Amino acid sequence: MNTIPLVSEAQRERQLRRSDSALPELWTLLDSVTDPEIPVVSLWDLGVLQDIKKDGERLLVEITPTYSGCPAMVEMASEIEKTLTAAGYTNVEVVSLLTPTWTTDFMSTQGREKLREYGIAPPAPKAQGKKIACPQCGSTDSELISEFGSTACKALYRCGDCLEPFDYFKCI
Ligand SMILES: [Zn+2]
Repeated sequence: MNTIPLVSEAQRERQLRRSDSALPELWTLLDSVTDPEIPVVSLWDLGVLQDIKKDGERLLVEITPTYSGCPAMVEMASEIEKTLTAAGYTNVEVVSLLTPTWTTDFMSTQGREKLREYGIAPPAPKAQGKKIACPQCGSTDSELISEFGSTACKALYRCGDCLEPFDYFKCI
C-alpha cells in the first residue's frame, strides 16, 4: 500500500510563511500557477513556491527550482510574472533560491496525492529508500527502465505486478 508521508519540517515552515504572510491574496492568486508538465500540481503543492515578499514597491517571489536545468522552471517563473501582472502587479521579480536546495520534503501531502492520481509516482521520502511504488496499483515491485522519462525531471519505471510503465518524479 502507498502511504502518504507525514508533513515534513520543511513543509511546516513553508506553511507558516504562507499563513503568517501579509499578502495572503497573492498566495491564493499563485495557486493557479501549475507545473507546465504536470498541470494538476500547483507550484505551492510542488514545494517550489517558497515566499512572497514586498520590497518597497516591488514584489519578490521566491522559488526553489526542483531540478537544476529543468526547462519547466523558466516557464514557471514567467507564468508567475504573467499571473501577477494580469492582477495589476507590474513590479515583480522572481528570485530563484539556490539554497536550501529543493527536496521532496518541500512537497505538500496534497501535492504528492495529486501526482499519484495523475499517474506519476511521487518522490519517495529519503528514508523509504529506492522502492518506488506504482501509482496504479501501489506495488513496490518496480524496476527502472530509463533514467529519463517523458521529461528530464522524471525517470521511467515499470511495475512488476500490473506491468504498467509509469513516470517517477525524480528526487535530487
Ligand atoms: Zn502496478
